[in-house]
Amino acid sequence: MSFAIHGQAVSRGVTVGRAVVVGASHMDVRHYLVGEQDVEGELARLRRARDGVITEIERVKAHVATLPAVDAPAELQALLDVQLMLLQDQTMSEGVRNWIVERRYNAEWALTSQLDVVSRQFDEMEDPYLRERKADVSQLVERLLAALKGEAHGLEQASSKALEQEGVPLVLVAHDLSPADLLQFKQSVFTGFVTDVGGKTSHTAIVARSLDIPAVVGARSASHIIKQDDWIVIDGDSGVVVVDPSGILLDEYAFKQREGVLERERLGRLRNTPSVTLDGQPVELMANIELPADAEPALAAGAVGVGLFRSEFLFMGRSSQGKSALPDEQEQYEAYKAAVEGMLGMPVTIRTIDVGADKPLDSPARYSHDKLNPALGLRAIRWSLSEPSMFITQLKAILRAAAHGRVNVLFPMVAHLSEIRQIHIMIDRARALLDNEGVLYGPVRIGAMVEVPAAAVMAPLFLEHFDFLSIGTNDLIQYTLAIDRVDESVSHLYDATHPAVLRLLAQTIEAGRVCGKEVAVCGEMAGDVALTPLLLGLGLRHFLMHPSQILAVKQQVLRSDTRRLVPWAQQVLASNEPQTLIANP
Ligand code: PEP
Ligand code: MG
Repeated sequence: MSFAIHGQAVSRGVTVGRAVVVGASHMDVRHYLVGEQDVEGELARLRRARDGVITEIERVKAHVATLPAVDAPAELQALLDVQLMLLQDQTMSEGVRNWIVERRYNAEWALTSQLDVVSRQFDEMEDPYLRERKADVSQLVERLLAALKGEAHGLEQASSKALEQEGVPLVLVAHDLSPADLLQFKQSVFTGFVTDVGGKTSHTAIVARSLDIPAVVGARSASHIIKQDDWIVIDGDSGVVVVDPSGILLDEYAFKQREGVLERERLGRLRNTPSVTLDGQPVELMANIELPADAEPALAAGAVGVGLFRSEFLFMGRSSQGKSALPDEQEQYEAYKAAVEGMLGMPVTIRTIDVGADKPLDSPARYSHDKLNPALGLRAIRWSLSEPSMFITQLKAILRAAAHGRVNVLFPMVAHLSEIRQIHIMIDRARALLDNEGVLYGPVRIGAMVEVPAAAVMAPLFLEHFDFLSIGTNDLIQYTLAIDRVDESVSHLYDATHPAVLRLLAQTIEAGRVCGKEVAVCGEMAGDVALTPLLLGLGLRHFLMHPSQILAVKQQVLRSDTRRLVPWAQQVLASNEPQTLIANP
């Protein structure tokens, strides 16, 4: 029977597919599809892993048998026996086999999928003793996963393509996904995702938008309600997930999907059209990117530069890729240079590392941000200034990349004059080090993000020290309204059009106009077409957003007349209920 789950719409479009429910602890398991010719090999990998685990358990059992009773409690023997028994269990082994043979999942994925199925069966058991056996199965799966790690994978995502072409769309359902998990989507087989937690401007949502795949976050208990292999529809426009859709619903969504494709084709025609309002005001539309490879979609969308390169994504999710904890200067330099060269001479603004809050680095502990109020803690520029050698390494890498094209450096979450002074000292130090080393570097423009209300209020002072400002509305809203942007339980209060937010925005843009320096908006507001007229009316001329939103915003720009929008925007600003006016520009 069909039913719907409601969450937050974060990334446009509709997709229909079979659910792959992934437990939080198994996000780092590799997910790929194997080709028909590789199925036998995958089953053999699994058999070898199982035989290895059996041998290991038998060895431990033999050792335990030689110990005095006090060191070898009967429970330990029993536990090992249960594990051996589970390894022969039909439900488990047949289930895993089916995932590989029928769905062509790789062995690790098949194991965790079957674990999910079996865990649900255990959850439904009345007998508490039997219910607790779930932990034994989990332990066993962990052992098998560890054994598989030692096995050569051999089968890469390339083989996934084969099955994708056979038309088996898969959508991911998880309790939570970190932004780093999501980046792996770029090479994965999933066509959309749903999470239980998360807000509209969480970084997970932002990355989903950049991937341009339908997504719904904050769908509460979706990962419990949806079962492995259920057919589901993800409607990323309205934030609805339909489980087990009826034929009529599927027809309706198929129609919607076709409409979406047509709309994109229509917008595609604007790619080379200059972004100018009806009254001749040029408006700069640039791309926000996470990785150097994103330069390509940015160019395809007609971006005139990269307005925000979120460099922290080079620092995240490294352990699962088998990389060192942090990228060194050379690795960073190569990544920044690749983005600069990828943009073919257009400017690239590289934001220094903005970790913390919902963008944690991998362990070790000193990089942990697992504090009570991470959004108010040691994040962004605060973190960089507390790790001077890391910060200098990044600045040197950016300065070196600037020898290859037009580069701006942007500093996140600046609030204090003391931070501004330290930033300048650090840049001078990075230049001096490069001079000493005789390494080539180029000139950069230096900017600050306006993300805390203090910075917006002090915009004129900031503009004395920086070449440009970029308003990070995602954080500015969070800090102005004291609403955690990743907490779905308060997301209804996260309001981009709150009068206080609009006034801070307006005064920052005005401060830029007065001193003739550039002020951009790089938060999600810049890519929201419903807000384009208002931002134009407030005098904004630099909009930075994900490539997937550029053409829709350009369409709005082309239809706008700022002579009419300026007085209207002043009315909106003066209103205590701006939302009512924004609906009718
Ligand atoms: C912002 O805060 O608006 C911004 C662009 O930065 P991020 O979303 O990466 O925090
Ligand atoms: Mg921010």
